[in-house]
Amino acid sequence: MKDLTLDIRIEKTENSRLSTVDFNNIPFGKTMSDHMFVADYRDGKWQDLRVVPYDSFQLSPATSSLHYGQSIFEGLKAFRNAQNAEEVLVFRPEENAKRLNVSAERICMPTIPEEIFMEGLHTLLEIDREWVPNTPDSSLYIRPFMFATDSFLGMRPSETYTFAIITAPAGKYYSKALRLKVEKEFARTAPGGTGFAKVAGNYAASLLPAKLAAEQGYDQLLYTDAKERKYIEESGTMNVMFDIDGTFVTSPTIPVEDTILRSITRLTVIELLEEMGKKVEERHISVEEVITAIKEGRLNGAFGIGTAVTIAPFASIADEGIDYELPADYTFAQELKDKFQGIQKGEIEDTRGWTYKI
Ligand SMILES: *Cc1c(COP(=O)(O)O)cnc(C)c1O
Repeated sequence: MKDLTLDIRIEKTENSRLSTVDFNNIPFGKTMSDHMFVADYRDGKWQDLRVVPYDSFQLSPATSSLHYGQSIFEGLKAFRNAQNAEEVLVFRPEENAKRLNVSAERICMPTIPEEIFMEGLHTLLEIDREWVPNTPDSSLYIRPFMFATDSFLGMRPSETYTFAIITAPAGKYYSKALRLKVEKEFARTAPGGTGFAKVAGNYAASLLPAKLAAEQGYDQLLYTDAKERKYIEESGTMNVMFDIDGTFVTSPTIPVEDTILRSITRLTVIELLEEMGKKVEERHISVEEVITAIKEGRLNGAFGIGTAVTIAPFASIADEGIDYELPADYTFAQELKDKFQGIQKGEIEDTRGWTYKI
């Protein structure tokens, strides 16, 4: 138990929905837990910290985030400790608190003190502890977010904001290997833009290209750099990694490139790979290099990396209308995923303080 120092008002629900949830069959993102954490920013400071029953927000039609998009979010997961089911393990939440503030600064929002994020999360999960699933392959998905709340149609940074954390039990995410398409027409972001920030608008920009690719039978896009359309950036809400001749190559994020979201899962994977004695290279990687490696049989496998999927192997990559199949017998992605999830769930010892216990 950590020392909690903030004054957080608690109002518990009288109508828990917990008993109505089938934890063996949880559709992603539809069922929210009983409570939410909320804080308001006004008069230059964060105030009225509270855990209250999950409910709608009341918003003016002129709410500025609806018009001008000052809206950011985070995503992370909590698990039951495999050694002690009474304990909840949250994976690297301090990293999400830091990244939320990186996003906030990019679109002129106030930052939120890390202790408000952490103590808000801690208090919320203590109250909704029973919502953390105990079934295999499941977790509690945690969604912190912040949006502008001024009721004002003028174009300027809002003076008021709401920060909230909601949570939703989640079952297994994608199961089969993904078929990808290299995207050279649309861009999700560009140098100088907001690609490194988890800003709502980035995801709006990616919906149409993803829909068009789905109509052609692809699961995800592999975005290329907006300027030369030559280098691979990332895929959906995943960073990507290519195992070429046993070296793990992944595109650089900030401070080298500001077009790629710096995945916390990827930071973790890099440390795990290095610990396993694997060679990792964070560098630009072109579509041509990947296709050549596939043709020459030097691409052992490739996978996407992010909180939702953890690690998702790729089945094929399409470029210029040709589908290139990746080796179907690449078992290393699963091995890595098992190790990763083993640490998240407390099955494998966490030697680096990655899991935050509640
Ligand atoms: C959230 C996200 C990721 C994955 O980041 P994690 O911290 O690993 O969850 C990767 N790319 C984009 C565009 C994202 O929004």
